[in-house]
Amino acid sequence: MYQAEQIDIAVIGGGHAGCEAALAAARLGMETVLFAISLDSIAIMPCNPSIGGSSKGHLVREIDALGGEMGKIIDKTYIQTKMLNTGKGPAVYSLRAQADKTRYHEEMKHCLENTPNLKIKQAEIVEIQMEENRVKGVVTSGGAVYPCRAVVLCMGTYMKSRCLTGENITESGPNNLMPATRLSQCLRDMGIRLFRFKTGTPARMNRNSLDFDKMQPQYGDEEIVPFSFAHKAEEIARPQALCWLTYTNEKTHQVIRENLHRSPLFGGLIEGTGPRYCPSIEDKVVRFADKERHQLFVEPEGENTEEMYIQGMSSSLPEDVQIAMYRTIPGLEHCEITRFAYAIEYDCIDATQLKLSLEFKGFHGLFSAGQFNGSSGYEEAAAQGIMGGINAVRYIQGKDPVILQRSDGYIGVLIDDLVNKGSKEPYRMMTSRAEFRLLLRQDNADRRLTPIGYEIGLISEQRYQALREKERLIAEEIRRVQSVTMGPTAELSALLERYGTTAVKNGVRLSDLVKRPQLDYDKLAEIDGERPDLPPEVRQQVNIQIKYEGYISRQMKQVEQFKKLENRLLPEDLDYESIQGLRLEAGQKLNMVRPRSLGQASRITGVSPADISVLLIYLEQRKRTENRK
Ligand SMILES: Cc1cc2nc3c(=O)[nH]c(=O)nc-3n(C[C@H](O)[C@H](O)[C@H](O)COP(=O)(O)OP(=O)(O)OC[C@H]3O[C@@H](n4cnc5c(N)ncnc54)[C@H](O)[C@@H]3O)c2cc1C
Repeated sequence: MYQAEQIDIAVIGGGHAGCEAALAAARLGMETVLFAISLDSIAIMPCNPSIGGSSKGHLVREIDALGGEMGKIIDKTYIQTKMLNTGKGPAVYSLRAQADKTRYHEEMKHCLENTPNLKIKQAEIVEIQMEENRVKGVVTSGGAVYPCRAVVLCMGTYMKSRCLTGENITESGPNNLMPATRLSQCLRDMGIRLFRFKTGTPARMNRNSLDFDKMQPQYGDEEIVPFSFAHKAEEIARPQALCWLTYTNEKTHQVIRENLHRSPLFGGLIEGTGPRYCPSIEDKVVRFADKERHQLFVEPEGENTEEMYIQGMSSSLPEDVQIAMYRTIPGLEHCEITRFAYAIEYDCIDATQLKLSLEFKGFHGLFSAGQFNGSSGYEEAAAQGIMGGINAVRYIQGKDPVILQRSDGYIGVLIDDLVNKGSKEPYRMMTSRAEFRLLLRQDNADRRLTPIGYEIGLISEQRYQALREKERLIAEEIRRVQSVTMGPTAELSALLERYGTTAVKNGVRLSDLVKRPQLDYDKLAEIDGERPDLPPEVRQQVNIQIKYEGYISRQMKQVEQFKKLENRLLPEDLDYESIQGLRLEAGQKLNMVRPRSLGQASRITGVSPADISVLLIYLEQRKRTENRK
C-alpha cells in the first residue's frame, strides 16, 4: 500500500450519480477525486438511449435548477426531443430526449476533466477506511491509500455484478465492463446490509438490417424545450433523428412461451429482484398473457453508429431464442444483432440505513447515491448524486445538511421514499408518487429550487438574478391580466366563437377568459392590445398560474398542513420503544429509521396515525416537563 494525496471527498463511481456528486463537491470548493473502474464507463447509458420521460424529466430539470449538469449535457447531445403527456395537464408534461450515447459520455467526461478541484482516476476501490465510525480514506486495488474526509458511494450496477443470457453467465458489469469484486465484503464487514437487485436490457441491432417501411416513424417536436433553464431553445435547435414504432405478435409470444424453461428469470438462475415497471419481454408475455401485442420503439443509439436499441423488449433468454423472437417482429425479420439482450444482477443497499441527507446512520462522512441505493434510472441516480455531493460538502463544513422535502420537488419525494420505505425492487420515479405534483411541475423547477441552489453555492449570481427578473415579470403580468376587463367587442366575440366558448354580453376579466378550458393566455394575445412582449417561459408561468389558480391554492394549503408535521423535528436521542402507548412494531421501526421529523415518522411503513398521535402527546408532555425545570 502507498500513501496517495490527501483529498476532501472521494466519489466512488463515474455513473450518473457519481458525476453529479463529484461536480457538486468540486464546484463547492472541495478537493475531489472521482474513481471509476473504467473511465470509459463515465456517464454511459447501459440501457435506453434517452434522458427524461414521465416524472424523470422533472428530476432532470430539478437537478439543473439546483446547479447540476445532466440537463446541460443532454441539451448538447440530444438527437430527438419531445414533450410527453401534452394531452393531459401541465403537472404531468414531461420532457424526453433521445441521446447520442457516445457524445453524452464524451461531453460529461470532458466537463469533469475541466472542472477545477476535481480529478478523475481509473481505479477500483476495494476498501473504505473508517476510524471510530468516521471516514478516514479509501484504498484502490492497486494499493493506493487516499486519505479523505468524506466518501460518496455511487457504484451503481457493478457491485459483484453478473450478466445472464440464458445459461451463459459472466461475472461482469454492464457492456462487459469489469465488475467491482471486493468492496461489497468490506461494506458487509462494516455491518451494512446489502441485497441483490436485477435489471435487464434489450438487444442492439444494425440499422442496415432493419426494414423501416414496416414500422411507423416517430418524430420529435418542432418546438424545442431545453432541459436546462440556462439554455434558450434557439441555442440548441438542430435537425432531429427519427425513432420507429413496431409491435410484437402471437408468433413472438409463442417463441417466448416455448422457451421460458431456458430463461434464467423463470429457471431460477436469477436471485436478484427486478423492476415491476420495467419488465422483460418474457415477463410481459407471462403477466399480460391476454395482450395480443406489445409496442416496441426502435431508437438510434447515436449519430455516428448504426446500432439501434429495441425499447420494450429487454430479455435474458438464450441467444438462439433471441434471434428467433426478434425476427418475428415486423421490420426486424432480417435483423443483425450486434449485442444480445441480457439481465444483470448486482449488490445494492437497503436505503433505510441512510438519513435524509444520504449519509449512513452510524458512519460519519459516508454517503451513498444512485442505483446502489435501490433506485433505477439515470435520472434517479443523478438526482441522488447531486444531493449526496452537496451533503458530503456540508458534513465537512460542519453545516446542516440540505434536505429537500416532498413539497419541494421530485428529488425530495425520491429520497424520502427510499430512506423511509426502502425498496423491494428497483425504485423508479413516477408522477403518482408525488402528492403535491400540481406544484412540482417540470416547468417551474427553477422557481422552486434555483434559490436553494444559489444559497448552497452551485448557482451563479447571474443565473439567480435572471430568475429574480423572471419572477418579477411573471408577477407583474399576472397583476395586469387580473386587472384588465375586456368589453364585448366584435373582435372578442369573433375569438370566443372561433374557440367555441360562450359569448359575453358585458365586460369580462381577462383572467377569467384565460381560465376557460377552450382558451389560454397565448390565444388571447390578439385581443389584448396592452400585452407586453414576454419570453415564452414567462408566458407559460402566467398562463398556468392563472388557469389553475384554484387547484394551485388548494394544493398550497395541503402543503401548509404537511409542513406543520414536517417541521416538527424529533429529538435524536429518543428511545421510541420506551414510549408508553406506542405499538411495539412502531417503536422498533422508529428506533431503526430514527426519523428527523414527525412528518417523516408518519411515512414509515408500520407507523400508524394513532402512533403519531401518541408521539405528539408524548412530545407535548416532554416539553412541559422541560419547561418546568
Ligand atoms: C443492463 C442494464 C439495464 C438497465 N435497464 C434500465 C431500465 O430499463 N430502466 C432504468 O431506468 N434504468 C436501467 N438501468 C439502470 C441505469 O443504468 C442506472 O440506473 C444508472 O446507470 C445508474 O447510475 P449510477 O450512477 O447509480 O451507476 P452506474 O451508471 O451503474 O455507474 C457506476 C459507476 O461506478 C463505478 N464503480 C463501481 N464499483 C466501483 C469500485 N469499487 N471502485 C471504483 N469504481 C466503481 C463503475 O465503474 C461506474 O463508473 C439499467 C442498467 C443496466 C446495467
